[in-house]
Amino acid sequence: MKNTTIQQFFKKFPSDEACLEHIMKTRYGLESKCPKCEKKTKFHRVKSQRAYVCQWCGWHTYPCVDTPFESSRTSLQLWFYAIYLFSTTRSGVSAKELQRQLGVTYKCAWRMGHEIRKYMAEVDGDNKLDDIVEVDETYIGGKKEGKRGRGADGKSIVFGMMEKDGDIMTKIVDDVKAKTLQPIIESNVEKGSEIQSDELRSYKSLNKKGFKHKTVNHGQKEYVAKDGTTVNSLEGFWSRLKLSIKGTHIHVSKKHLAKYASEFEYRFNSRSCPEAMFEELLNSFEKPSLK
Ligand SMILES: [Zn+2]
Repeated sequence: MKNTTIQQFFKKFPSDEACLEHIMKTRYGLESKCPKCEKKTKFHRVKSQRAYVCQWCGWHTYPCVDTPFESSRTSLQLWFYAIYLFSTTRSGVSAKELQRQLGVTYKCAWRMGHEIRKYMAEVDGDNKLDDIVEVDETYIGGKKEGKRGRGADGKSIVFGMMEKDGDIMTKIVDDVKAKTLQPIIESNVEKGSEIQSDELRSYKSLNKKGFKHKTVNHGQKEYVAKDGTTVNSLEGFWSRLKLSIKGTHIHVSKKHLAKYASEFEYRFNSRSCPEAMFEELLNSFEKPSLK
């Protein structure tokens, strides 16, 4: 099954040229109105540059501008293949693995991985959450297992919000104080939504901010409250995220954690098959603002 898909990949994108044409097609079309002379034109390929030219006025367009490949000399086919690997590997792709599969330097593989993660976050977008929303925080990395707020040296704190049967959104935070977490909730969750959390004090007074706040008492070994309140879905996401980071990347610095988290956010939110995810990623290069 996987082999067939790899075959399909190389059939669809047999060369750099095919990849560039794909980008041009999705962004401008090979035949469309020229933004400069406004005539209907056929864009011709400019040799030795990643560019096309209007058949009438000679206006050049560079379809890779504002894509992850803009300033990269790595072949477009390798980029597309890297995106393919990110779409088909559930637990993510390490720089080492990219280096091995693409035959590029580690430095190049590392940079590609980060550009692709940034791009996945862009495609994912950040729509406000609504209805019933679980909120929770987790600690990642660092040397020792730390308790909430204490002994968490060297760990990064990830705060998450997940709509019931909907999207998840994560943010890296410096602490779990009310004045840190509540503004994030206020700007990312629609007012009037029901917020479900554990008994962390920082979540108290959400009722006063226009939310319906419900609590599950983890201190009492309660995981689903009698009224159904729970943060179990979010905790499931945390454990998958941690397993993937541990298994794939070994260590992720605080500085880069947000990008890894958003990669998994996108994977979770798209909930689609790898092929569909790949399609979406390859068809979402946003149109540049024409100057
Ligand atoms: Zn023109």
